Amino acid sequence: MSGRPEVLFPLFADLTSLPGVGERLQKIFAQMGVEKPRDLLFTLPHSGIDRARRATIQGLDTPGVVTVEVEVLEHRRPRRKGGAHVVTVRDAGATFRLVFFHARPDYLERLLPLGARRVVSGRLEFFDGAPQIVHPDHVLDPAEADDLPLFEPVYPLTQGLSQKVMRKAVRAALARAPDLDEWIDESLRAREGWPRWRVALEEAHNPLTAAELAPEWPARQRLAFDEFYAHQLALALARAHLRRGKGVALVGDGRLRRKVLDSLPFPLTGAQRRAIAEIEKDMAAPRRMNRLLQGDVGAGKTLVAFMALLIAVEAGRQGVLMAPTEVLARQHYAGLGPLAAAAGVRLEILTGRDKGAERRAKLDALRTGEVDILVGTHAVFQDDVTFKALGLAVIDEQHRFGVAQRMRLSGKGPAVDVLVMTATPIPRSLALAHYGDMDVSVLDEKPPGRTPVATALVPTTRMDDVIERLRHAIAEGRQAYWVCPLVEESEAVDLASAEERYKALSAALGDGVVGLVHGQMPPAEKDAAMARFAAGETRVLVATTVIEVGVDVPNASIMVVERAEIFGLAQLHQLRGRVGRGAQKSTCLLMYKPPLSETARRRLTILRETDDGFRIAEEDLAMRGAGDLIGTVQSGLPRFRIGNIEHQTALMALAQNAARKLLHDDPGLQSPAGQAARVLLWLMEEDKSIRLIAVG
Ligand code: ADP
Ligand code: MG
Repeated sequence: MSGRPEVLFPLFADLTSLPGVGERLQKIFAQMGVEKPRDLLFTLPHSGIDRARRATIQGLDTPGVVTVEVEVLEHRRPRRKGGAHVVTVRDAGATFRLVFFHARPDYLERLLPLGARRVVSGRLEFFDGAPQIVHPDHVLDPAEADDLPLFEPVYPLTQGLSQKVMRKAVRAALARAPDLDEWIDESLRAREGWPRWRVALEEAHNPLTAAELAPEWPARQRLAFDEFYAHQLALALARAHLRRGKGVALVGDGRLRRKVLDSLPFPLTGAQRRAIAEIEKDMAAPRRMNRLLQGDVGAGKTLVAFMALLIAVEAGRQGVLMAPTEVLARQHYAGLGPLAAAAGVRLEILTGRDKGAERRAKLDALRTGEVDILVGTHAVFQDDVTFKALGLAVIDEQHRFGVAQRMRLSGKGPAVDVLVMTATPIPRSLALAHYGDMDVSVLDEKPPGRTPVATALVPTTRMDDVIERLRHAIAEGRQAYWVCPLVEESEAVDLASAEERYKALSAALGDGVVGLVHGQMPPAEKDAAMARFAAGETRVLVATTVIEVGVDVPNASIMVVERAEIFGLAQLHQLRGRVGRGAQKSTCLLMYKPPLSETARRRLTILRETDDGFRIAEEDLAMRGAGDLIGTVQSGLPRFRIGNIEHQTALMALAQNAARKLLHDDPGLQSPAGQAARVLLWLMEEDKSIRLIAVG
C-alpha cells in the first residue's frame, strides 16, 4: 500500500465537498484546525444541553434550559423599532413569555400562530419577577418535535460558526465515515467494552446524557485509544526499524571501567549499577540499542554514560557524547578528563568553535581512531565528521528532540547504539508518548550525602534583604547563582535584565565579586566567566537560564531566581539542582513580583514541599498541560484531539503494549489486524511511519 487507502478518500476530501459547506465556512473551520471531513469527526462535543421534555416550567431551577409544550396565547408587537416582541404562552402549569428582538413580527406570528401548540426550548430566566425565555433555541410543531434530540451536543466553535452549522457539518461528515476494518484486538475490545470505530463516532457525537461526554465513556475511550495507538504504532515502527538495523554486539571486558571505578572516591549507587547493567546487556546484543537514561538532577547520569562509552572503547569502538550547549560540552569535557585519564583513553572535544587547522587535526584523529571518546555539541554530527568506528552515541539533556532527529543521528555510523540522557523527570504518560520508541533506564536513587536545599518564596519588594543576606554569605566563603529571566530584547520590558542586575549587584557587593553570563555573549567570554566562577574568583554569577542544565560548581550553595513565577516548575527544579551539590547547607530563593496569583503560589509551593523531580513534573503537567511542559513546538509530541495525555496514562500504556505486540507478531503489518492498522496510520496522519514497516 503506497498511498492513502481509497476507503479514506471521502474523509480527506476538501471540506467544501460536504453539503452546506462553502468557501466562506471552509475558512472559518480552518481557524479551528478543521480542514477536512476527518477533522470534523475528531472534533467532539465538549458538553451538552438536556432537552428532555417537561410538562411545565414550574419548579425549575432558574436560569436553566427547559423544553415544554405550550399554547400560544398572545402576541405583543414591539411599540418602537428595536423593541421587544413578546409572545405569551402557557404550558401545563404556568404562563410565561417568549421575547424576541429584531425579528419580523409577521415571521413570528407564522412561527407561533395564536392558539397553536408548540414545543419551545431555551433558557428560562426571571425578569422583573416574571419567567421568560429570550430567543428560544427551538420552536417546533409538536408533530416534528421528535427531531429534537433529548440531549443536544455542544461543540467547540470559533468566531462566525454556530452550533447549528457545526452540527450539520458533523452530521455530513459522519455520513461519509466508512465502516473500517477493526484494528483493535478483539479480545481487548471485548474486555474494555468498546464499540467499533464507526459506532463509537456515532455515539460520541450523539451523547444521550452528560455521562456520555466523559472521557471514560466507552465510545470516547475507544477513539482516544485509536489516537494513542496510531502514535504508539509510529513509535514502535521507528523502534523496530532501529532494532532491525544490523547492530553490532559490543562486548567490553571491563578493564577500562574497572580502572575508573577504582579511581572514584565513592561507590556507584544501586540505580547506577542497574542502569549500567541494562546498557551493557543492550550493547552486547547484536541489535541497535535505543535507550533512554532518565534521572533527576544530580542522580549521576554522566558517570553512567561514561561507563557506557567505555564499554564501546573496550569493544574496540569509539563513543561520542553530545551536549545541547557549548557550556555543557566544555563542562563534560573538563569533568570527564580525570576519568578518561584514569582509564587511559583519549578524550577530545569538538564544538562549533573549532576552526581551521585545529579542527582538521581533531577530525583526522577521529578518523584514524586515535580519539576514543568525543565530547561536543551538535557540531559532532556535521557531515565531514567521520569516525573510524563509532559504536555508541550518547545524547545529553535533549528532551527537545523528536523521534525523527533521534533516527537521523543514529545514522552517523553503521549500527550505532544510542543512549539518550534526560534530566527532566518526565511523567510516565509523557515518557510513553515521547519516548515510546525507546527502552528506558531510570536512576531513581541519588548518591548519598546530599543535603536538601532549603527553598523560600520571597517577594521582589524584599530585594534589599536578599542582597544583604548575600553579602553575609559571601563573607562566609559561599558562592551564589543569580538567575534572571532574560528574553528577547523586545520582550524584556518588565523583566529584570541580567545586565542591569549585574551592575546593581556589583555596586552593592563590590567590583570583581560578581560575574555575568548570558546567551548573547561571545562564547569565549562566556567560558571565561564560567571558569572564573568555578575557580571561586567571582562569588556571585548572574546568569540567564544558560546555566539551567548540568552546570556543576560544588561550592555554589545559593540559588536566587528572579521572577520565579514565570518559570516552569521543572525548570526551577533544574535550577535548584545546581546547588546542594557540596557538603554545605544550600538555599534556593524564589523571588516573585507581587501580587502572586493563587495558581502561581500553589505551583511555587510544590517546590518548597518536595525535592522529588518526578512529583514536581507530575504536578507541573497536571497544572500546565503537556505542551507547555516540553514546549509544544519543540517537543515532537503530537497534538491529540480526543485523547488526553495528562489524564489517560493507562490508556497510553495499553496502546504501547498493543502496538509493540502487533509489530512483534506481524512486523510487516500483513495480517488483517496489520492491514487495518495501516489504515489507522493513514487515518491519524501518522502515515510517514508507514515507510518504516518491515519489508519482506
Ligand atoms: P546528573 O547528570 O544526573 O545531573 P551528574 O552526573 O552531574 O548528575 O552527577 C552529579 C554529581 O554527583 C557529580 O559531581 C558526580 O561526580 C557525583 N556522583 C555521581 N555518582 C555518584 C555516586 N555514586 N556517589 C557519589 N557521588 C556521585
Ligand atoms: Mg548532568
